[in-house]
Order: sequence, then C-alpha cells, then structure tokens
Amino acid sequence: MRIGVLGGGQLGRMLGLAGIPLGLEFRFFDASAEAPALAAGELVCGSYEDAAALQRFAADVDVITYEFENVPVQALDLLATAAPIRPGRRALEVSQDRVNEKSFFAEAGVATGEWRKADTLEELKSAAAELGDCIVKTRRMGYDGKGQMRIKTPADCETAWNLTSNGGLIVEKVVPFDRELSQVAVRGVDGDIRFWPLVENVHKDGILHTTTAPAQGVAPSMKRQAENMIRSVMEMLEYVGVLTIEFFDVDGSLLANEMAPRVHNSGHWTIEGSVTSQFENHVRAIAGLPLGHAEARFASVMINCIGAMPPAPAVLQHDGVHLHDYGKAAREGRKVGHITICDEPPTGESLKDKVEHLERLVEEARLIAAKG
Ligand code: AMP
Repeated sequence: MRIGVLGGGQLGRMLGLAGIPLGLEFRFFDASAEAPALAAGELVCGSYEDAAALQRFAADVDVITYEFENVPVQALDLLATAAPIRPGRRALEVSQDRVNEKSFFAEAGVATGEWRKADTLEELKSAAAELGDCIVKTRRMGYDGKGQMRIKTPADCETAWNLTSNGGLIVEKVVPFDRELSQVAVRGVDGDIRFWPLVENVHKDGILHTTTAPAQGVAPSMKRQAENMIRSVMEMLEYVGVLTIEFFDVDGSLLANEMAPRVHNSGHWTIEGSVTSQFENHVRAIAGLPLGHAEARFASVMINCIGAMPPAPAVLQHDGVHLHDYGKAAREGRKVGHITICDEPPTGESLKDKVEHLERLVEEARLIAAKG
C-alpha cells in the first residue's frame, strides 16, 4: 500500500519512519527538493497550484493525507478522485481559519474563551473595547505565534490592523490560564478512538519549547472533559487520523485554543513514551488498520531543538534519552529536531536532572544559531 503525504517536513518524515515497518510505502509532495521526508520515501516537488505535479504525486497512491494544515483546499479538490483523503477536506477547511474553527468549536460543544471577528478597523476597535485585554490574530496562515499582537490600549488597534494582509482578523480575550495542555487522539475508519494522555506544553517566543507527558495533576473530570471534546469534534467531522486540540487550563477547566488536523509537535514524545506513537497510529488509521494502544509507558519530557542541534555525544550520554535530528540546515527560529527524555529504567539519574542538562545543551545550540 502506498501512502501519499502532502507536505514533506519533519512530520512527514516521522510518518514515513513509523509506517515503513508496517510494509507501507510513502510518497511526499513538497516545494523543496531537500524536504526532510526525502529520507523516508519518494518526493514529488511542486507547488500546490501545479495540477500536473499533484497528479504525478497522486498516481498509484492508495490513500492521501497531509502533514501541513495550510495545504490549499483547492489542491485537495484536484486530488479528490485519485484516492481517499484522510482526514477529509472539512477538517482542513475548519482549521485553516480561526473564525471558522472557533464557530465550529461552539457547534461541537467545545468551550473557548470569548472572541469576535473583525473585518474592518471599526470592528476591531469595538471588539477590543468590549473584550478589554485581548490578542488579535490573523484568521489564516498564522502559526508558532506569528501573525498575532496583544492589544492593551485603543491605539494598538491601528498597528494590529496592519496584520490583516490575508483576509480578516479574530480578536480573542486574553485567557488567564494556569497552564497549556493538549489532547492528541486518533480515530480509525471504523470509528474506534484512542486518546493519549493530556500533556502540558510550555511555549517560548510563540514556539513549543517543552512537552511534559503525562501532564501532572489532571483530575478525572478534566481528562473526561478533554476526551469528550475531541471525540465530539472527531465525530462531527467523521475524522480519520490523528487530531490535536490545544487547551488552556483555567482553574481546572479547559478552554480550547486551536486544533491541528494532523500529527502534532506535542505528540512527539509518543514515539518512545507511549505504547503506539501518534505517527504509527495516524498511518494505521488512514490505511484502515486496527489502532494501537495509546497509554504512556513512561513519564517523558520532549524538548524542541530550535535553530541548531546540540552535539549528539553530549545528548546521548544519558540513559533514556532519544535524539531526533530532522536533517534540516541550522537557521534561527527553525525547528530542527527534538529530544525525548523518558523516565525509563535502568537509570541512576532523575528525570529532572536529565531535563535540566538537556535544556542547557539545547539553549547553547540555539544561541550559537542565533549569533549566525
Ligand atoms: P496560537 O498561535 O493561537 O497557538 O497562540 C500561540 C500562543 O499564544 C499560545 O500557545 C498561548 O501561549 C498564547 N495565546 C494565544 N491565544 C491566547 C489567548 N486568547 N489568551 C492567552 N494566551 C493566548
């Protein structure tokens, strides 16, 4: 069976690495001839507007998926007759636009903070006046904290309005959260759903810095709330594959921030830390195979390597440490790899000591990349 993956970044690469042992073959579609997924299958290069390249990509694939949520839906339409697309078009469409996403959350019974849409400067000003302390985000194409601005005074509205290059804004009241959590889950073709445990995420400069799995101090009611919300979204979308919802934990109750219709950075720990990784389960789901258990095997911490990789010998001196180098050139602010530290025996070192040392190594590499 051949899987076609739109996007050839690290997520595609890890999907391929998980699916190859299952006897699956992969073909990726990416604009870059040096896309990281090249290591895990064939690569067709082209733009999403290039119908001929898309047809070459889709020839003889049995199922199509995506690892990048800004794939234009028109590209999916061109591929609609080639093979089943999992997850489907609607999931992509909903998650590409923050206003559609928040409206959909409301329909699905998923709680969010207060928000307004703003299509004009006047609407932005009146939304900011109503909501008070708020964050303005572009409706489309924002990621890793880009295309966002905090509004503190009415004068900030004029500056924020300049963000609107690509079709409207959403204005969100600032949520006074205690911490950020995410729920990753997978749904199979037959409707079977598996939930990984809720994890805690720390962001730095808008980019995910660490994920701690499982999140500590999750009450059974919160676990139920997260699972019910993601189940509701998956069932409404007739979703197949891995889906992630990012939440704010406010006094033990969850408010959704956004969703990603794909494998997610906050699920990277699952490769070594859970019974079946998010990558393997995504591939199993879209290929129509039975899903694997999603329980954690160890307490784990995932650290993103941003800018440059730390030296492998220094990282691997610890037991229970797993290094993932995506094979990308060093560049400031770029996700180039990650490290998962598992509290797996036999180890004489505490998880906390290992994490502290590895965070220092990652920070040193980042600073070197930032200096150029
Ligand atoms: P996003 O691109 O929506 O994931 O936002 C990036 C980060 O900004 C989030 O992970 C939060 O740390 C913060 N953030 C986004 N929206 C809000 C909000 N409404 N209230 C408080 N913090 C937010």
